[in-house]
Amino acid sequence: MISKILIANRGEIALRVLRACKELGIATVAVHSTADSDAMHVRLADESVCIGPPPSRDSYLNIHQIVAACEITGADAVHPGYGFLSENAKFADILDAHGITFIGPTADHIRIMGDKITAKQTAQDLGIPVVPGSAGEVLNDEDALKTARQIGYPVLIKATAGGGGRGMKVAKTEADLLEAFNTARSEAANAFGNDSVYMEKYLEKPRHIEIQVFGDGAGNAIHLGERDCSLQRRHQKIWEEANSPALNVEQRMKIGQICADAMKKLKYRGAGTIEFLYENGEFYFIEMNTRLQVEHPVTEAITGIDLVHEQIRVASGNGLSVTQDGIVFSGHAIECRINAEDPRTFVPSPGTITHFHAPGGLGVRVDSGAYAGYKIPPYYDSLIGKLIVHGRTRVECMMRLRRVLDEFVIDGIKTTLPLFQDLVSNPDIANGDYDIHWLEHYLAND
Ligand code: ADP
Repeated sequence: MISKILIANRGEIALRVLRACKELGIATVAVHSTADSDAMHVRLADESVCIGPPPSRDSYLNIHQIVAACEITGADAVHPGYGFLSENAKFADILDAHGITFIGPTADHIRIMGDKITAKQTAQDLGIPVVPGSAGEVLNDEDALKTARQIGYPVLIKATAGGGGRGMKVAKTEADLLEAFNTARSEAANAFGNDSVYMEKYLEKPRHIEIQVFGDGAGNAIHLGERDCSLQRRHQKIWEEANSPALNVEQRMKIGQICADAMKKLKYRGAGTIEFLYENGEFYFIEMNTRLQVEHPVTEAITGIDLVHEQIRVASGNGLSVTQDGIVFSGHAIECRINAEDPRTFVPSPGTITHFHAPGGLGVRVDSGAYAGYKIPPYYDSLIGKLIVHGRTRVECMMRLRRVLDEFVIDGIKTTLPLFQDLVSNPDIANGDYDIHWLEHYLAND
């Protein structure tokens, strides 16, 4: 049994995990950098340990400090949240060597899915449909030209070690190819310390639809439906919903079952997300995330299942609390990511929040560590909170969202709230009629 969990993260997700631990009667340890001493997760945890100066590499990414914090406090498990060390196989291995439970999949599964070429090959072998593309790494100019001709233009060059929407370049025609290929390689080398790239067919009007999966590590696995994350800026999600306005029940259950079956074969443990692009009725795997996602609350809203509880159960060896037949999808949920950013340019806007009023009422959830007087440090991701709204239907959910956005007050900094106020009144969004490029076009024509 797990009795004390160290939460190796910060911000809203640290708070989210802490709440689940409290409900389960598990003691909590917060870790924090010197910039986060006043953070809400530090205040609410049973114990806290300062693990270093503000830069992430010296604190939230500092494995030695985190392991030392476990030893000092006697934490027997670590929840990594998302980002930071959540998909770091070495971290999972080191915890294992210290007899500390990593609340997540095995280090091997993290490794397989962390390398995008291996991930795609594995997905294909497990019966998951993938985006047409190169068989593996594209090695040189000649290889790039040959592969692009086989796939057909436009093509997308992607970093094998990519993440966060970085390291991707589109080539519309052969004239653009070599420049795109070489820029992608050097950007990948700079961003990830690895210049390996591969090539995919560039889909022109896809939606981003992802399936939430869960395995117990012993060959049982379920899916919890999909999330539609097509509204993106710079390949980063900003608004997510479940169910997808583009799928019907049969399509949902079919792709969900394909994913659950694949996870059974893999003997996958814990929460995972299989991401697809969806175009003309077809799904194309792009990657798998071996962790909890930022947007997991929309799935929780429509299933009533607490995904962090399930993660802790599985990590404790207690298996899943639900079977596939026991999962009932109810209503519709939308999440808006509240970032401390300019709502048009997305330039970060750190600073002090002078007024903070979170909305409430039926079907409303706000996950945020922000409060009046809180000073947002400039060192980290700009996500300061998430607003999740649930309704019996998508129409009801949108009506509620409109009301709730009017009620939400965050003063002193710029946030993405005004963007959501515009989106919630937009006819395309009201009709669920958007793809992954919709937001870019909307902002460009604004
Ligand atoms: P990352 O790990 O950097 O987030 P992903 O492979 O998940 O990279 O892709 C992120 C986003 O980039 C997708 O949601 C989609 O908007 C876009 N994208 C990725 N692959 C393709 C593709 N083959 N065609 C068109 N857009 C793509």
